[in-house]
Amino acid sequence: MTVNDLALSDSPTNNILDAPSLWPAQAHTPTVNGRQLVVERGEGSWLYTSDGRKLFDGTAGLWHANIGHGNAELAQAAYEQMLQLETYHIFARYSNDKAIALGEKLAELSPIERAKIILNSGGSDAIDVACKLARRHWQREGRDTKKIILSREFAYHGLHAYGTSIAGLEFNREGYGSDSLVPETARVSFNDATEVEQVIERIGAENIAAFVTEAVQGTGGVNPPAPGYLEAIEQICRENDILFILDEVITGFGRMGTMFAAEYYGLQPDMITFAKGVTSGYAPLGGVMVAPRIWKPFYVDSPDTPIFRHGATYAGHATASAVALKHLELLEREQLVARVARLAPVLRRELDALATGRETITEVRSAGLLGGVTLHESLSAEQICDDLVELGFIGRPLRGNTIQISPPFIVSEDELSDFINAIGEAIDARSGK
Ligand code: PMP
Repeated sequence: MTVNDLALSDSPTNNILDAPSLWPAQAHTPTVNGRQLVVERGEGSWLYTSDGRKLFDGTAGLWHANIGHGNAELAQAAYEQMLQLETYHIFARYSNDKAIALGEKLAELSPIERAKIILNSGGSDAIDVACKLARRHWQREGRDTKKIILSREFAYHGLHAYGTSIAGLEFNREGYGSDSLVPETARVSFNDATEVEQVIERIGAENIAAFVTEAVQGTGGVNPPAPGYLEAIEQICRENDILFILDEVITGFGRMGTMFAAEYYGLQPDMITFAKGVTSGYAPLGGVMVAPRIWKPFYVDSPDTPIFRHGATYAGHATASAVALKHLELLEREQLVARVARLAPVLRRELDALATGRETITEVRSAGLLGGVTLHESLSAEQICDDLVELGFIGRPLRGNTIQISPPFIVSEDELSDFINAIGEAIDARSGK
């Protein structure tokens, strides 16, 4: 059947026309069509699907459900805020009380001293803003050749125009007609600080606006930095007048066992992007923490002070902000970041035990409550994750034949250990053990 037949056919011979109208994200549609797992309810670390399954959420969805599903206090916070004021924009002299309060809270938590906070709707938004602001910064300084954004092989920074352009996962960049949607980008290899110096030498620091990196690469396969790598990059950025942007969309708000990965690795970025963990996904929210070096010129008391011409209708959304405030309160009240710090060595131990004696596992990696299990090429991470669903667990295949492990912070040690054991069971079943 051709595409034209499809358009004309009123009695399709296969089920393409029966597929739901919702276009699934990141999906090979013929593969998922007819076998979607439709989640209807969540409670803590567990999910319930329309076909009657109960599944352990071993990835916290897309690394977002840190506090776990079905939290009534967060639902209540959203309900109360919507009754009071769903939202009001924060353009020019208008604002809303919840966005302002969240700004204060985030500035207090931020590893960047005296940060200003830009709010928007998610991680891809945050990356777009950070990259635009980096260029805006240098333009305002009169150094408008500084435009190029450097990023790393295997990087994932969302999929808006900038995220697509700086992606280190080639399949996310392909198919848009040129090397990059935004032309001024360049990539460096994944863990080699010396090479970064060479790339800067070649391109010229006078042409580079910023270096963007995740603290621990997530979608690229759960890749912690080589020891000293991020510290070296920060130093190189300082020496070359290149802004250092740390993407903490996954690591922010506790996933490392510290509030931010910047603290974990002892970094002082010029900007930090965040999303997911600021609300644990109870409302779409993200943003950028901005250092004084960048924001001050936009705050000078003068008619000539420039405006940062960025903003969206839902920037500082009042209900999303109210949910974030309650969520951050719960994170502190339940001491969930300390809990992650306690669980991190448990995860490490479980992963080491999983790898021991299994040639089908080529490597296990972890940092905080982030883990990756890389399989030998005789196995497929995608297949193993499908098998895991049949065992009642959700893992996720990532680049490099790796299985993602990033359970909610509220996971019990027993649940964590059951999950890792299930991965072992699925691997052994496929390798004929
Ligand atoms: N940066 C990183 C490091 C991410 O992991 C993600 C999402 N997985 C994003 C940015 C994009 O965030 P969002 O999907 O909320 O746009």
